[in-house]
Amino acid sequence: MKYRIGLSGAAAVLMALSAAAASDDKTAHDIFKQLIEINTTDSVGSTTLAAQAMAQRLLDAGFPKADVVVLGPNDRKGNMIARYHGKPGSKLKPVLIIGHLDVVEAKREDWSTDPFQFVEKDGYFYGRGTQDMKDSDAIAVSAFIRMRKEGYVPDRDIILALTADEEGGKSNGVDWLLKNHRELIEAEFALNPDAGGVRPDKPQIVGFEATEKLYADYQVLATNPGGHSSLPIPDNAIYHVANALAALQKWAFPFELNTVTREYFTQMAKIETGQSAADMRAILTTPPDPKAVERLSQDAHSNAVMRTTCVATMLSGGHATNALPGRAEANVNCRIFPGHSQEEIRLQLIKLFNDPKLTVRYRGDNGELTDHGSDRKAMAPPPLRDDVMNSLRSVAAKLWPGYVVLPIMEPGASDSIYTMNAGIPSYGISGVAIERSDDKAHGRDERVRMDAYYKGAEFYYQFLKALTTPTG
Ligand SMILES: [Zn+2]
Repeated sequence: MKYRIGLSGAAAVLMALSAAAASDDKTAHDIFKQLIEINTTDSVGSTTLAAQAMAQRLLDAGFPKADVVVLGPNDRKGNMIARYHGKPGSKLKPVLIIGHLDVVEAKREDWSTDPFQFVEKDGYFYGRGTQDMKDSDAIAVSAFIRMRKEGYVPDRDIILALTADEEGGKSNGVDWLLKNHRELIEAEFALNPDAGGVRPDKPQIVGFEATEKLYADYQVLATNPGGHSSLPIPDNAIYHVANALAALQKWAFPFELNTVTREYFTQMAKIETGQSAADMRAILTTPPDPKAVERLSQDAHSNAVMRTTCVATMLSGGHATNALPGRAEANVNCRIFPGHSQEEIRLQLIKLFNDPKLTVRYRGDNGELTDHGSDRKAMAPPPLRDDVMNSLRSVAAKLWPGYVVLPIMEPGASDSIYTMNAGIPSYGISGVAIERSDDKAHGRDERVRMDAYYKGAEFYYQFLKALTTPTG
């Protein structure tokens, strides 16, 4: 009898647990669907609608009105800030989670499904933002709701800021909040699930972003008087630009390492095999083995981690088939290694092209051309905090046993640039697993595996709790 009671008691607990898990999954699903179906593109969308929808979710879950606000510079670029209160009287500064609500433009005719419909098929969720990054926005909101439902009290406040204009537009929400309402998001450090992530295909890793490269565009321009093409002269705008680009093709910026990329290659060398593993070890010695550097540079991913890269991305010139070109121009896109500025790279390009007929100008985010790039350098990597690292390692070991946890330097830029520059160390951590072949952020048919999404939600919930569980 006792035995039977024990069994049914255990079964009841199990049933209650799986019912709770099913309801948490349903919440995470419904929030995700709602977010995908609110168009937040810069052209026709509104982050305010998405911000308000997420605010309402939190209010419905019992968050006090005073702790959930929607604010922005205009009615289309709203940001949502929610505060989850920690232990009363805690001396610890809050942890901030940032996530952008806006998405890259998507055209219906390019996609197999409607990018602004949440389509569930073949084990995937499809829609613009399913990878970048409404999945993580929905996961963060779901974690807030789940923790509150169970009455969890963290050791410090947790702030969630869902923001506008990371992908485009002129009203970057993180920047705006730091300038206008810093008190709302003041924190000891920040988590930004827009970077980092889990790779389930080989090599299996849980990567977290600890630093990132600096983005820069440059206009390379040549102008000529032009003339009739029946009387050509050697001085030709198209040749000037073409020669500059040919020089760029052959050029490689010097090899560099920092604390993050050193640790990255150290860990990667354990996963890789053969020549590639040996090369990764050989570039860590002083001085690094130049042959190893050269071989690893053939791989686009390793190359991007080893140096500043610049590449031609756009080209135009001439105005008629039978006229000498009056003008030719190219766009050169650079991803700058931390420690160097946009202006420094502009001067290096000028030196490399070595052509007084060319001008090299910096092109700002808004398209404006200037004769001088910013002197601001990409931030040096923040220290790898023990609390963040230990929480990440322990939860990752539970959810993805055998995966290597390693720091990465993202070749792209995220909103962490604003928080980092404001003195808030920022770490890119996400638990959503995406195969390397399935990187479709910004592309057509963006999608995420259903099970990877739910596991990502479980990860963030557990990670946040591990990070903020009061000790003693
Ligand atoms: Zn993003």
